[in-house]
Amino acid sequence: MKIAMLARNAKLYSHKRLKEAAEERGHTLDIINTLRCTMNIASRRPDIYYEGQKLTGYDAVIPRIGASVTFYGLAVLRQFEMAGVYPLNESVAIGRSRDKLRSTQILARDGIGLPVTTFAHDPKQTEEVLKMAGGAPLVIKLLEGTQGLGVVLADTDRSAKSVIEAFRSANVNILVQEFIKEAGGTDIRALVVGGKVVAAMQRTGGEGEFRSNLHRGGTAKMIKISSEERSTAVRSAKAMGLNVCGVDMLRANHGPVVMEVNSSPGLEGVERATDIDIAGKIIDFLVASAAKGSTKTKGK
Ligand code: ADP
Ligand code: GLU
Repeated sequence: MKIAMLARNAKLYSHKRLKEAAEERGHTLDIINTLRCTMNIASRRPDIYYEGQKLTGYDAVIPRIGASVTFYGLAVLRQFEMAGVYPLNESVAIGRSRDKLRSTQILARDGIGLPVTTFAHDPKQTEEVLKMAGGAPLVIKLLEGTQGLGVVLADTDRSAKSVIEAFRSANVNILVQEFIKEAGGTDIRALVVGGKVVAAMQRTGGEGEFRSNLHRGGTAKMIKISSEERSTAVRSAKAMGLNVCGVDMLRANHGPVVMEVNSSPGLEGVERATDIDIAGKIIDFLVASAAKGSTKTKGK
């Protein structure tokens, strides 16, 4: 099979591992810098050019589109989809996952456990939002933040109010969430591939840190998750329409709550923590699915 991977940095652990896993299985995988693709959007001829050459003959495409290039990256991915190339994750599904508000609404619609989450546009509604979220302590999040940046814990209503006002004056969208204290600075990341959890790890934040992101100094170890956690992860992936994703959950007193579904999960932390060949599982899934040539949305 001939696979294209849309990525900017060929040297990243995840990208190297996916290439290795594809090649070990006798496939070719070309890493294509998303931002260097140009598109010819003509009727019924969705061409893509890369460094002056027309890209042809690909059976599948692996989108590893960074959050900062979502807009252009998804346009390139749609072009592949319209040309009939099978995407590991579809552009529409990635688009949903990049917006925390939209994802939260989609998960809620399917009855998936979530922290109490509130949202408002007008700063005049700040008091109301605080009240609806159950009052401090509260977590305030930038809608388009990643790696734990833009996630703030406010211990009192007063500090919550000033954080919300500060974000609003910077004209960014936020959501306000109940703080799941009992999670104890720890979260669970379940890796879903093709409707199954293939690996799970627990991440714990550094000393005095409520955010467990590895990018914020958290540490990871393999963990056995409950069947409720497993089904929550699988249902979340399905609700979002993602074949491959990392589902981040907190252990709340009343069961697992989902914080986020990541459509380009990093493989380094989870492969090192669990010793599972996740890149191999992703490629196996891609090869088995692409053969059927079943792209659902083609960007619609
Ligand atoms: P990002 O997408 O930037 O990683 P997250 O929403 O995943 O942002 O939050 C980062 C971290 O903060 C999580 O991994 C978790 O440890 C902690 N966290 C986020 N939301 C809550 C919450 N409602 N209650 C307790 N901890 C939270
Ligand atoms: N193709 C659908 C639309 O653009 C996507 C819907 C969705 O992402 O939920 O309306």
